Amino acid sequence: MGSTVQDRIDPLTTVGTLKEELGEGVVRCTACAHRCLIKPGRRGICQVRFNKDGELRVPWGYVAALQIDPVEKKPFSHFYPSSDALSFGMLGCNFHCDYCQNWLTSQTMRDPRADIGAQYIREISAEKLVDMALQNNAPILVSTYNEPLITTEWAVEIFKRGKKAGLDCAYVSNGNATPEALRMLQPYLDAYKIDLKSMNDKNYRKLGGVLKNVLDTIQYASQLGIWVEVVTLVVPGFNDDPEELWDAARFITSISPDIPWHVTAYHPDYHMLDNYATPVETLQTAADIGQEAGLNYVYAGNIPGRVGSLENTYCPSCQTVLIYRRGFVVRDYRITAKGTCPNCGVKIAGRWTDEPESVHLGGWGLPRRI
Ligand code: SF4
Repeated sequence: MGSTVQDRIDPLTTVGTLKEELGEGVVRCTACAHRCLIKPGRRGICQVRFNKDGELRVPWGYVAALQIDPVEKKPFSHFYPSSDALSFGMLGCNFHCDYCQNWLTSQTMRDPRADIGAQYIREISAEKLVDMALQNNAPILVSTYNEPLITTEWAVEIFKRGKKAGLDCAYVSNGNATPEALRMLQPYLDAYKIDLKSMNDKNYRKLGGVLKNVLDTIQYASQLGIWVEVVTLVVPGFNDDPEELWDAARFITSISPDIPWHVTAYHPDYHMLDNYATPVETLQTAADIGQEAGLNYVYAGNIPGRVGSLENTYCPSCQTVLIYRRGFVVRDYRITAKGTCPNCGVKIAGRWTDEPESVHLGGWGLPRRI
C-alpha cells in the first residue's frame, strides 16, 4: 500500500470521457454539475478525479464497499420489490453534508478522519462484479454508498456487462448530475434514486450543491425514461418546515404524481451530532403533505414498524393494498404479472416482475456481506 490515500487510489484510475478539453492541458469535467475546470496537477472538488499531464484521470477497477442489499434498502419501493441488489461503493463525494450517514467512504480525501476509507479498497474487474451478482442470485447492480456520478465511467463499464448478462442497473445518488452524464448512463441505467435534500437553495449550498441542478436531474432522468424515486431525509431544523415540504411535494407532483416520494428519518451523525432524530410525527406530517399535494405513492422510512401504513403500497385508484412491507421485508405482494392492481386493473407505476409468484415473501431483510 502507498504511504497516502492519494498514493493508493490514484493508480486505480483510467482516462475519463466525461470531459471537455479546453486547450493547454486544461480540462472541464462534466461528470457532475460542478463542472470543475481542472488544470494539470490539480484535482476536482470530489478529489478523486484529477488532471495528470493534461489528461483527466477517473476512478476505475476497485470497490470500497460491496454487499448484497434488499432493493428496499436503497430505497426503491417500485423497482422489482424483494429483489437482492449487488451494491458497490467507491470513495469520495461532490457534496459535504454535515449529517452524512456514509461519511467514512464519502469524505475520503476531503476529511482526514475519513481517509480510513482507503483501507476498504478491493481491486476488482467489472466481469467479476457481474459474476458475483449472478452467483448470489442478485438481479440488480447498484452503485451506492458514496456518490456514483463521480465514478460514472466505471459504473457504465460494469453496467454494460451487467445488461448483457440480463441484470438491471441502478444509481443511488444526490442528483447533482449533468445532461452529459445522464445521456451516457441512459442506455444502461434502469432506476435512479435521487435525494431531494431541501427546497431552499441556501441550504443546498451549505451541503455543497445547487438546488436547481438537482431539480433538473429529477426532471431530465424522468424524461429519459429512467425509473426515478425521490428521497428526502427529513432533518429537524434543516428541512422540516411544512412550507418547504409542500414545495418539495408540489415539485415532484409537477414532474409526475407517480414518482414515489420517500420521507425518511434522520439520526445524528458526522458533524451534526447535537441534533435529535426525526420524530415519527414529523414524518407523518411530511407524508400527509405528499399525499395532499397529489403524489400517488408516499413512503416513510428508517423507522420500521412505527409509521403504520406508510411502508405499504396502495392502489391509487381503489386503495387496495398491493404490497405489505415491514422495514426491508416484503410480507405480501399482489401486483399482477401485467403490473396492474388485481382489484380494479389500473396500471401501477414502476418496474414489476412478470412472475409475481416468484417474489420472495418474509425473510430477514438484512444486507449480506460477500
Ligand atoms: S465529478 Fe464533479 S466534483 Fe468531481 S471533478 Fe467532476 S465536476 Fe468536479
